[in-house]
Amino acid sequence: MQHGKFGTAINCMDGRVQEPTIKWLKQKYDFDYIDTITEPGPDKMLSQGRPEQVESIKSRVFISVNKHGSDTIFMAAHYDCAGDPVSKEEHLKQLRECLKIIRSWNLPVKNIIGAWIDESWTVEVIE
Ligand SMILES: [Zn+2]
Repeated sequence: MQHGKFGTAINCMDGRVQEPTIKWLKQKYDFDYIDTITEPGPDKMLSQGRPEQVESIKSRVFISVNKHGSDTIFMAAHYDCAGDPVSKEEHLKQLRECLKIIRSWNLPVKNIIGAWIDESWTVEVIE
């Protein structure tokens, strides 16, 4: 059984975004642990990736929700993303598409959050 309160983050593999994300989520939602699913440019991978890439992200989110009881899915896009080098506007478009996809999974969670992590590594909630 899980001990403690878990949240789930779908984030870039970029080392610059991990700590700001974990800190922000712990402060905002009082989590003990954040399960982190990382990809290079996850917003592009989830919104435009091959079916098996989408399935891979989905299956890891399901483990976090079903085995750890996470009630919050946090999905981020970020500034200067090497895995998805597009404009902020394009990132936000992809991010919104990702949120639609995550909602379509019908997970038993309370929160699905989309965020932008900016050039000073600050988390900004988009949706
Ligand atoms: Zn990135």
